[in-house]
Amino acid sequence: MRIVTDYLVLGSGIAGLTFALEAAKRGRVLVLTKRSERDAATAWAQGGIAAVLDPDDSFGEHTADTLTTGGGISHRAIVDMVVEDAPKRIEALRELGTHFSAADDGHLDLAREGGHGKRRVVHAGDITGAEVQRALLEAVHAQPNIELREGHMAIDLIDLARLGGPRRVVGAYVLDNESQQVYAVVARATVLATGGAGKVYLYTTNPDIATGDGVAMAYRAGAEIANMEFFQFHPTCLYHPQAKNFLISEALRGEGGILRLPDGTAFMERHHPMKDLAPRDVTARAIDYEMKRTGADCVWLDMTHQPADFLRDRFPNIYARTLALGIDLTREPIPVVPAAHYMCGGVRVDGAGRTSLPGLWAVGEVACTGLHGANRLASNSLLEGLVFGHRAAVALAETNPDLPQIEPPSWDPGKATESDEAVVVANDWDELRRFMWNYVGIVRSDRRLVRASRRIAVLKEEIRDYYFRHVITMDLLELRNIADVAELIISSAAFRRESRGLHYNVDHPQPDDRLYRSDTVLRWGGLPERRPVKE
Ligand SMILES: Cc1cc2nc3c(=O)[nH]c(=O)nc-3n(C[C@H](O)[C@H](O)[C@H](O)COP(=O)(O)OP(=O)(O)OC[C@H]3O[C@@H](n4cnc5c(N)ncnc54)[C@H](O)[C@@H]3O)c2cc1C
Repeated sequence: MRIVTDYLVLGSGIAGLTFALEAAKRGRVLVLTKRSERDAATAWAQGGIAAVLDPDDSFGEHTADTLTTGGGISHRAIVDMVVEDAPKRIEALRELGTHFSAADDGHLDLAREGGHGKRRVVHAGDITGAEVQRALLEAVHAQPNIELREGHMAIDLIDLARLGGPRRVVGAYVLDNESQQVYAVVARATVLATGGAGKVYLYTTNPDIATGDGVAMAYRAGAEIANMEFFQFHPTCLYHPQAKNFLISEALRGEGGILRLPDGTAFMERHHPMKDLAPRDVTARAIDYEMKRTGADCVWLDMTHQPADFLRDRFPNIYARTLALGIDLTREPIPVVPAAHYMCGGVRVDGAGRTSLPGLWAVGEVACTGLHGANRLASNSLLEGLVFGHRAAVALAETNPDLPQIEPPSWDPGKATESDEAVVVANDWDELRRFMWNYVGIVRSDRRLVRASRRIAVLKEEIRDYYFRHVITMDLLELRNIADVAELIISSAAFRRESRGLHYNVDHPQPDDRLYRSDTVLRWGGLPERRPVKE
């Protein structure tokens, strides 16, 4: 079976939907999303979107804050472009019907977050992402040029070169999760908007969809992938067997929270003069260090010295959620662990979202645009998805690529049979996420990276063998993808023999500007490269 459309969009988060709405002005858009339309990191975003909207603020200051956080390898021209486009993109969201929180004077309420010198974070209470996604989805459903299919997962990209033509991505093979059928989509342009890859680590704040599918598909197709060593870890995710992925906001530490070891000792004073108010990365590293040193499964965030009424009033969601799990944060400390939160690297793109492969575009967290460099400034990621989703659609309209007249071969399942040992898949998922956490997590060392690269080689071989022998399922496809992403993270981390931003290696604890003020670029079958950052 073959479906033909103008634009194929993979992903229904902020980046994919923004692209779809703009592109639908000029052509038919097919949006595929592998679970429900709301299953996206976008819907989980709490804080907000950064934009200069206060007369006392300036583009220069937002740019400066982004560059400082980026550790010297953000691309200046991209940062300027994103920062300057931000107010227009916020206005466009409001025109679509997004309700942002307002201050008493009727203007948008602007919050301040870590790393920002000014109040510039537009938000909808503490459910910003859900509100933005609601508005985008409503607009998408009202647009007759857009078809959105839930439960359809892209497996691999289709390269015209494999069909005897020039190198060009002309669509993708897709698994319909309900019928279990695989079909091909052919399009003028294929847009990856598949989000991040937090699931590559044992602990993550990300939803289950975050398995790095876009990066893995692009990598297998031969696209350039950049800066995968820079993975942001959030210091405090709830540690509880029944609560996966629940973020405990940094605002708790802002309101006096104290991090303690299992024996009750407060430990942050050993790690930073600001103690529990230390920056996010320092806090995540300190918790990781103490957990590894003591062998503890988690540390404890203690709020019990604060008045109970204040805590219930200030943190109603966190209070209710933890109470439902039997933890009363007004009377007992909260068990927390750091968790993988945001992928700064991704498919390398230019200022409009073009990848290194003709026909393939990437927008949102899946892309590496040069904005974040070695570390992401809070609330700049929803913004990046908005700006690049819009710009890619505008740039595509100008290019107006032809519709490929091809008939891709039907998906060949080979001799694949139903699996009778799903335990292999479950085991590999667990093993991979655990060694990535232990060896390639917040603190790395040369020896641990060597160990990790040996382990991933064995696991990839096992997964490859399983993939070719068994009928594909979403679980197996995701496992194959996180294995590719894990390999990319390990290789990129091993290649950067310094510490910068989110990448910390105890054997090379200092930055080395002479060699490493550059992007790390990987390509299937090629050697890693250092590319100087564009000023
Ligand atoms: C808990 C949490 C809080 C956050 N808070 C903030 C914040 O306050 N401010 C901020 O700026 N950022 C925040 N972030 C980060 C931000 O939410 C994400 O970076 C952003 O939403 C990514 O948007 P996206 O459109 O690129 O991807 P997503 O919103 O993750 O969407 C990805 C989409 O791709 C689909 N998909 C994936 N693979 C496939 C496939 N193979 N086939 C078909 N579909 C596929 C998924 O189903 C999903 O629809 C937060 C993230 C988390 C997890």
